[in-house]
Amino acid sequence: MRFLPEGKGAMAQRIVAQGRTPALQDFHRVGRTLSPEEAATLADWLQDGMCTTVVEEVRSKDGTFRLGIGLADGRRIETVAMPTGTVCVSTQVGCAVGCKFCASGLFGVERNLDANEILEQVVHARRRLPTDRVVYMGMGEPSHNLEAVLDAVARIRDIGQISGKKQVVSTVGSVKAIARMQAASVRPCLAVSLHVADDARRRELLPRAHKDPLAEIVAAADAYGRDMGMPVQFEWTLLEGVNDSDLDVEQVAELLKGTRALLNLIVWNAVPGMPYRAPSRERIVEIVRAVKARGVLATIRDSSGPDAGAACGQLRLKDKGGIAG
Ligand code: SF4
Repeated sequence: MRFLPEGKGAMAQRIVAQGRTPALQDFHRVGRTLSPEEAATLADWLQDGMCTTVVEEVRSKDGTFRLGIGLADGRRIETVAMPTGTVCVSTQVGCAVGCKFCASGLFGVERNLDANEILEQVVHARRRLPTDRVVYMGMGEPSHNLEAVLDAVARIRDIGQISGKKQVVSTVGSVKAIARMQAASVRPCLAVSLHVADDARRRELLPRAHKDPLAEIVAAADAYGRDMGMPVQFEWTLLEGVNDSDLDVEQVAELLKGTRALLNLIVWNAVPGMPYRAPSRERIVEIVRAVKARGVLATIRDSSGPDAGAACGQLRLKDKGGIAG
């Protein structure tokens, strides 16, 4: 954190008195008035200017913005701002995990984002929509860039006034990464991307995820959630014929039995050229009911803004010439 060494009060008063700066308006839109100290922290950060710019902006029919963000080195990442008040941020350029259904991992990882590059995605989102929740579910695997991610969580709390409990770090998970999150100065909520509840099959679908046994990852995640007083979310991107069988339902219910988990069943956003499709709506509803009947909380999560190409990594795929547009 960069605080003003002196003159902080005067700067704060000037910022509060101005009251019309875009940055302050961002807070007013979510019904938040900054204290002089909070305004000073914001002013300090703004003094250095932004290091990223919005280079592409697509608004979908449901009001979702998909933003292409240009980095100082010419690379691009993507950010999705949703009318629900949530912004989905990227943490890396590309991703090394290589989940078979995800465009972000198709070309590997180019580099990590620093904390400012993550924080600025929230600023860009707020300039378009009132935003008071951050999910680290965009391009990149947060546990591969955990130091910058945890630094961003703290800065977004201090500068953006979004508490750790309204920030969700989504990871393929490892016992070590969860332990590091546990020791962070500002702890975010945790979401673990499962997608399959069988270790061998998961290694096929998520080839370069951490190799810790799923039972250990789930136990560590559940302990983290209990300690924070927040349920851990487990993510499951539904793919027809891959992870939507009755056996999958049995396995995930067994894996999450006894935890305070919430299973998010995500409706896959089609990526051109990928050999997958989402199950029918009827089958998705059946799966949710079956999981709930086995004592695990479950919900369906539709991806926002499919007509804006908001599925993870679509912009990168386009940049690399994978799809026309
Ligand atoms: S789903 Fe997430 S972890 Fe998997 S390749 Fe895409 S960005 Fe990486």
